[in-house]
Amino acid sequence: MQLRVLGCSGGIGGANRTTAFLLDEHVLVDAGTGVGSLSLQALRAIDHVFLTHAHFDHIACLPMLLDTVAGLRNGVPITLHARRETIAVLKEHVFNWRIWPDFSLIPDESSALLQFAVQEVGETREVAGCRITALPAEHTVPAVGFRLDSGKSSVIFSGDSTGGDAFWAAVNATDNLTTLIIETAFPDREAALAHAARHLCPATLQRELARLRRPADIRITHLKPADSALILGEIAALGLPARALLPGDVIEF
Ligand SMILES: [Zn+2]
Ligand SMILES: [Zn+2]
Repeated sequence: MQLRVLGCSGGIGGANRTTAFLLDEHVLVDAGTGVGSLSLQALRAIDHVFLTHAHFDHIACLPMLLDTVAGLRNGVPITLHARRETIAVLKEHVFNWRIWPDFSLIPDESSALLQFAVQEVGETREVAGCRITALPAEHTVPAVGFRLDSGKSSVIFSGDSTGGDAFWAAVNATDNLTTLIIETAFPDREAALAHAARHLCPATLQRELARLRRPADIRITHLKPADSALILGEIAALGLPARALLPGDVIEF
């Protein structure tokens, strides 16, 4: 399988696009501004969207994706997999007819383009040949990470999270792990802000990576654009075996 990085930045500007990954052709993981780089044909092929959480940088393109492909799918729905709380927030604050139409009711609930599928922490979905498990995350709002298991190997994406015991237990139990995608949103001078926002900075990344018990290619996401070079420099200075994930990267697994 292929996991294509559409966006992996903590912000926008220039080549920076916020979090979105395309798994082969039909599955989107998060729906940040990276989705906007897909062709109309590629957008139309998306059948499933898995969301880590409801923060705007991870959902920004979801409303426009639905509107763009609404007339192109011959009635085939798009299924949105997320925690119950994440779906509730989207219904109340986005698909509420004021910010955007409620695509889960158009033309009616049973035949709507947008179908919700609650996926709680620990649940696995088999979709398009991939086993996708929601992993525990620690963030300011209900969130998950994902394990993507092709059967051959697994990629784990932490989502927005400070890590935590349950997350590392799941990582270390992944026998076929090859790639760990983990965020580092802030530089160390903003450690207090990182803690308040439940994001990592290089010092806390070091603490968390010390809990990894398996070999893995470690890729960093969610760098704030204004501080990305600084954050990567701090990670390198700590001697951590991690490198930046880049838009356009394709992870084969
Ligand atoms: Zn977030
Ligand atoms: Zn985020």
